[in-house]
Formats: sequence, C-alpha cells, structure tokens
Amino acid sequence: MTKYVYDFSEGNRDMKDLLGGKGANLAEMTNMGLPVPPGFTITTEACLTFLAQGGAPAEMLEEAGEHLRDLQDAMGKTLGDPGDPLLVSVRSGAKFSMPGMMDTVLNLGLNDRSVEGLAKQTDGDVRFARDAYRRFIQMFGKIVMDVPADAFEHVLDEAKAAKGPNAQDTDLDADDLSSLIERFRAIYREHTGGDFPQDPKDQLRLAIDAVFRSWNGKRAIDYRRQNKISDDLGTAVNVVAMVFGNRGEDSGTGVAFTRDPATGEKVPYGDYLENAQGEDVVAGIRNTKRIAELEPIDPESYHGLMDVMATLEGHYHDMCDIEFTIEKGKLWILQTRIGKRTAFAEWVMAYDMLDEGLIDEDEALLRVDANRLEELFKRRVKADGARPIAKGLNASPGAATGAVVFTADDAQERANAGDKVVLVRRETTPDDYHGMIASQGILTSAGGTNSHAAVVARGEGIPAVCGADAIKLDPAAKTFTANGTTVKEGEVVTIDGFTGNVYVGELPLEESVLEKARSGDATARGEKIWKAFERLMSIADARRRLRVRANADTPDQSSNARDRGAEGIGLCRTEHMFLGEERVGAVRQMIFAETEAEEQKAYDALLPLQREDFVGIFRAMDGLPVTVRLLDPPLHEFLPNQVELAVGVARAEERGEDEVRLRDERVPLDEARVILGKVDQLHEANPMLGLRGVRLGIVKPGLYAMQVRAICEAAARVKQEGRDPKVEIMIPLVATKPELEQMRAELEPVAAEVLRSEGVQLDHLEWGTMIELPRATVTSAEIAEAAEFFSFGTNDLTQTAFGFSRDDIGKFVGMYEERKLVPANPFVTIDQPGVGRLMRIAVEEGRAANASLHIGICGEHGGDPASVAFCEELGLDYVSCSPFRVETARLAAGQAAVGSAESAST
Ligand code: PEP
Ligand code: MG
Repeated sequence: MTKYVYDFSEGNRDMKDLLGGKGANLAEMTNMGLPVPPGFTITTEACLTFLAQGGAPAEMLEEAGEHLRDLQDAMGKTLGDPGDPLLVSVRSGAKFSMPGMMDTVLNLGLNDRSVEGLAKQTDGDVRFARDAYRRFIQMFGKIVMDVPADAFEHVLDEAKAAKGPNAQDTDLDADDLSSLIERFRAIYREHTGGDFPQDPKDQLRLAIDAVFRSWNGKRAIDYRRQNKISDDLGTAVNVVAMVFGNRGEDSGTGVAFTRDPATGEKVPYGDYLENAQGEDVVAGIRNTKRIAELEPIDPESYHGLMDVMATLEGHYHDMCDIEFTIEKGKLWILQTRIGKRTAFAEWVMAYDMLDEGLIDEDEALLRVDANRLEELFKRRVKADGARPIAKGLNASPGAATGAVVFTADDAQERANAGDKVVLVRRETTPDDYHGMIASQGILTSAGGTNSHAAVVARGEGIPAVCGADAIKLDPAAKTFTANGTTVKEGEVVTIDGFTGNVYVGELPLEESVLEKARSGDATARGEKIWKAFERLMSIADARRRLRVRANADTPDQSSNARDRGAEGIGLCRTEHMFLGEERVGAVRQMIFAETEAEEQKAYDALLPLQREDFVGIFRAMDGLPVTVRLLDPPLHEFLPNQVELAVGVARAEERGEDEVRLRDERVPLDEARVILGKVDQLHEANPMLGLRGVRLGIVKPGLYAMQVRAICEAAARVKQEGRDPKVEIMIPLVATKPELEQMRAELEPVAAEVLRSEGVQLDHLEWGTMIELPRATVTSAEIAEAAEFFSFGTNDLTQTAFGFSRDDIGKFVGMYEERKLVPANPFVTIDQPGVGRLMRIAVEEGRAANASLHIGICGEHGGDPASVAFCEELGLDYVSCSPFRVETARLAAGQAAVGSAESAST
C-alpha cells in the first residue's frame, strides 16, 4: 500500500522527490536534534493522485488522521479544544523551492471556542488570540476559498485608520480585533455563501486541498515555466504545530542565511521582525531589522541561532537559509534549505568553502552555475560623482537603467514593445512576477533583503534595490518622490544593485571587476571574486577533457577569444570577407561574370584582401588550430534586397532620376537595372536550402580555389615570419561523400602549388567538412573516408532535422516551449533525442570508418552548458563557441568531466 504521510522523524534530506524540499529538510533537522516543531508531511505522490482524481485518496485522509492524532499526543493538545487548542500551519513545499508561488495557511484549528482556549493558554493574552483568529479567517478565506484579498485588507485599513493616522496592526486592541473578526466572518459569508467552518478537521481537509490545487495556480505555473521546473512533480504539504512570533516583545520571526547571499561573504545575514508572524518578513509589510540587531534584543536566542547555523553549514557543507521564530524567548527552526545566491556570491562561497576545507575541488567546481557565469561580467554603474536620490538595500547585484513603470502589467506591456523598464513598487508580491521578469531592474521602497522582490530578483539575475524608504510612491499619479525629486512614469532612472543607490537619468555603466582584472587592473586583481574566478577556472581546465575553441572571423575577435582561453578557432566564417565597400564591386563582378576571364578578374581582386585577413588571424592564433570555412551563404546575400531594389528602380524611373537610392548606397539607374535582373535571376524560394555551401563550390570552382589560395599564401607568410600556423580547411553543407571528394580533388592541388611555390611546409593542414545535414550524419561512415575532421553545424542540423527555419522560429518557439511541444528551444540546447541522436550516429560511424577523425561542434550550442555536457558524453574532441562564451564553455566542460567521472564511480 502506498504510504502517503510521513512523520518528520521518518524522513531525511534525500527524500525531496517525495517529501518536497521543505519536508525533507524538516525531517533532516528533526533527526539532527534541532528545535523543529513537530509535524508530518503529506507526499507529492498524494498531490499527484489528488490532481489526477480531482480529490484526495481515501487512504491519505486516513493516514493524515492517524498522524494528526500522534501530533496531538506529542503536543498534549487537541485541534479545536476550547480549553487548550493545538494550532497547526499547513505549508506547501515542492521538490524545488518556488518562493511564495504556492499557498500556506497558518493558525489552523482556531474557531469561535478555541480562540478563548488559546487566550487562556497564553496567560490570558486575549489580544494575541483574537489577532491569530482574524489572521486565520483572512488567510483561509483568501487562500482556500478565493475570497478577494482586498475585501479583508480594506476593512483592516479602516480599523487601523480609526485608531489614528499612522496606526499599525499592532495598535489594534482586543476589542478592535473582536469587531474585526465579526466583519471578517461577514465578508467570508458574503463571498462563499457559507459560515466560516468551525470544525478543525474540515478546516484541515480544505486547506490541504487548497495547497494541492495551488500547484496548478497561475503564479506557480508561470514560475515553473521561467525556471524550467517540471509540471509533473506536485507539491507536498507539511502540517506543523504552530509556534508564535507575535506574542510580544520577547517574540519575533526572521529569515537568515548562514552567509551573505548577495556578496558571498562569510557573515550571517538576514532580517528579523519583532512581534510578528512568519509571512510578515517576506511580504515586506514592516521594515525589518538586520540579524545582528537581534543580539542585543535577545542574546540567548541570537547565540542559539548562530549555533544552529554553524551546525547546518557543517552538516550540509553549504550555505543554508533558515526561517525561524522566537516564541517568548524560545528559538524554533521552521525551515532550512540550501540558500539561493547571486552568481557573484556563488563563486565567492565556493572559493571560501574550498579554502575552509568544507568542500573539495570537484565539489567547488560543481557549485558554480555555468549558465550564470556571464552575470559576473555584467557592467556596473559609473557614478562619477552623480548624486543618488535615494539609497536602499543592495538586494540583487548588477546595474540597470530604464523607464520607470509602476505596475507589473505596465512593465510587461512596455517590455513587449521593446522598452527597457525599471519596475518601482512599494513591495512586490508573487502576482507581480510576470512584470518583474520583464524589467531591467526592480526598485522597492519597503521590504528587506529577503522580501519577495529581493528573492525573486536574485533568483532571476535581475538587479534590484529594495527598501529604499526615502521613496514615497503615489501610485494613482504614477509618480514617486525621493528627497525632493519627483520622478514620473516613463522617466529614466538608473539603479545600482551593488550599492543600493538610485539615480535619476541614464548613468554610464562601467566594466565589471572581472573584465578590469583581465585587462590587468591591479586593484581588481586583488578582489576575491577574481581570485575565485582564477582558482575555479584553473580547476575546470585541469579537469576537462574537451578542448574549447572559438568562432571568430577577424584578428580582433581571435585575440579576444585567445585572451579568454580559446585553444583554437573552430569556425572562421569567411562571409564577412566579401563585405565592405572596397570588396562589393569585386563580389558583384564575380556574381555577374559572363566569362571565365571576368570571373577570374574578380577573384584576383578579392584574393589579396582575403589573404590579409587570414594573415591577421593566423598571427593571432599562432600555434593553435584555425578552422576556416569556405564561403557558405547564398550569393544573393551580397546583393541589395530584391524588393528594395525593385521599388528603388521603379521610383527613379517614375521621377525621371538617373540614380537609385538604396538604404546603404546609391547606384546609377542603369547599373541598378542590371543588378535587379541578376537578383531576380538568383532569387530562390528557399535560399537556405538552395545554392549555398559546397554547392557554391561546385557551381563556381574558382571561388573556393581563390579562398584556398588566400589561406595558404597567408599561412606561408606567417610561417615565414617564424610562427606556427595550423590550418584546417572546412567545406560546408556537405550531404554526400562525392561532393567532398570532388572539392578536395580540386582544391588540394591549389594548396600544394602555393606551398611549393612559397617553399613552405605546413605541419598541420587538414581537410574536413561540416556535418550539418541529416543525410551527412547517417552517411558519416562514407564521408569520414574523405575527411580528416568533422565539425557539427548544429544550427543548420537543427534547422534541417526539425524542418524549422532558423530565421523564423521566433514566431512560434515560445508557444512550443510553453506547450511542451519541444523539451527546450532546440536552437539553444541540443535536442538530444533527435538532433543528438543524429550526432551520435555520425560520431560512432564516422570514427569506426576513420579512427583518426577528429570531431568538434561549431553551432551556437557549443557555448550552452547543457549541450557542452552532451558533447562530453558523445566524446567530441572540442566545442567551439562565440568568444564571449569561451569561459562558460571551459567551465561547463570541466563540470561535465567531473560530473561524468562522478556518475561513472557511482
Ligand atoms: C551551423 O550551421 O551550425 C553553423 C555553425 O554554420 P552557420 O551558422 O554559419 O550556418
Ligand atoms: Mg551552417
């Protein structure tokens, strides 16, 4: 029989699939002997059954009943007891943390009679008991019965206003709360058509159902999409004995991290709110105190908390975050998990923990996320004396500038229209998520470093400044004022998530510490983030088997790539060598040539220009391999756009002008007519499947010969300078072995002739092909006989395997991802079952036919960490990616090697 319910003492941290993250860690802490209130967890399996059947399985209800009895026995209290009631919280908790995205109900078990019992048990604290009851009605109404939150808030605001202009919740006395309870019950009745349930068992059953249902709430679904969390996991439900942080000045609640999640520094970090209940901290309702400020207030609890933190770090070997409550001087731990942190903090922490001996080198390497490495290179605000109009907490690093908007909907709408926006709110709630992720930056006037805004921003890598309390918002007027400056909707502000400063206008941004350090800045090199970067990257380099090359087309790109650690060029696209003012004439001459002599003249003009380009690249990559791809795109790309040209000619004719004005150039009308004729002639219905790649080489033999001559002359020159060029010549878009054979037969003699006449021998001159068509992958055994290397062109391979035009996929890929019609965007991450399978065939059969074949990848996927891991699994020799992703690929390759070693040893 399926077991649906586990007592905390029955679980452990490895049971996250079944118990969710919260449940598994509560169990772990219970078994570690930490002060966790007793409780039990209803499994994710129960949730999935509930969602599938539309109701809770009968056995689950029975088991939950038994565990509830045990809990009551353990506490010596009973739910609903008018003398001494047990109260519980009902908390969601999925395998992966989804902060605030699902529902939680607190104070469950209160009813008209037990509220009196609660007062009795809390030394006659009637105010406290009534406050707990009104919170419960409010939360239960909103979460379980969908009563609009505003209905309760409105009445609460009225009650506070009646007490005075700046009255807080805490100013309401027992009598005020008594009438508030009456009004809340009336609201409940009005919206649900029934009375507030008095039987705690009914309350519990309904609350569990609501938490299960919240797995499929809009917020939760949006969050899962964005964070690539599967919809099939379900949430667990934790039923936990209540402890109260709102029982007076010797009580409180807080959220703490064992290290600073923004900077990574080894200092406890967090927020504490006196005399408050759990959710108040995250909701940013009142401004919180820093965790260190707890020490003078309650030294015993503070030191107890520090001990718990140290124990948890030692146990989990990682930074933990904790929710805690102090009830009348007694510390309770309500939750822990491995804490989320910024990309920046993740490097600093891994480095420090390695230093402290808390983790080993491989573990340190796996602690950093290759997908977020680029964030470390983000620019910062260059303030240069500019005066901030406000300062808040540096809640999420990075700098952002954009037009101010005040609602999440406006943020989303303007961002969709292409604007850069900064979302300004008093605080955010999970309902604002869609607007937050559409914003460049987030600015709040209330709430601490663990408020919803801060947590979400850090998770998403969006710069944020929180709790800038000088900012006074006027949502109706859509303005805010800070220290005398008023900013209207649409005005541009700059926020600095590293310092917490807020500026009016667009400030210049400056290089990150890592970029500065890379260019030799001594101060930047002294910073811990640079040391962390160097240390972990050197571990990655030592571990990785895959080589990392770059896709670079110019000498500058090549040296940039080399600075970033590229070990060669995996793709030098030669098309840009046909562009530019001085080349366009020759290129057109080549395209329009009627005779071989005319065509040759064009090649003769292009040859020296291309040779100079190659000389620069070979010099920059001295000693490292450079894969040069012969011309690939269809020729019409080098001619003006057909429609623009036709319109231009027609307009000039109509106006009697003798010149046609195009976007980038002016062309005499006669010439324009000739060009238009040629463009019409070259027009193809499907140019990506037309005369391009090797087919160009077959149709225009002089073209590739000219390129090979330019490459070999350049290599000869660089060799004569005493350097060591390593040349790999690559034929694109090959589908059949004879295509490649024919090209080699034509081109190898050209190379040999150049080298002979230059009197140079190259140590490394190889001939190979791109594998970017499905036919090439499945006939790779044949093609490998004619190739010394393969390079997967996964852009075209994805395009042709799916039949998705790579230029048009933007129209539907978002919907495809959302509806799970593809596992992920296949142009970003290799589609393993389809494209990946074709690659596997090509690797296995290609190598079987030619043992010395070397194989790489040069499609965009070469810089995507998940795809790099797949290339490691396939046993490729190298990945090649854009220069700015070289470090990401190095890191991902190191992690993949360690990861595969780990899985091999388990
Ligand atoms: C590819 O197709 O993956 C490739 C690298 O070539 P291009 O993007 O230039 O077509
Ligand atoms: Mg291609």
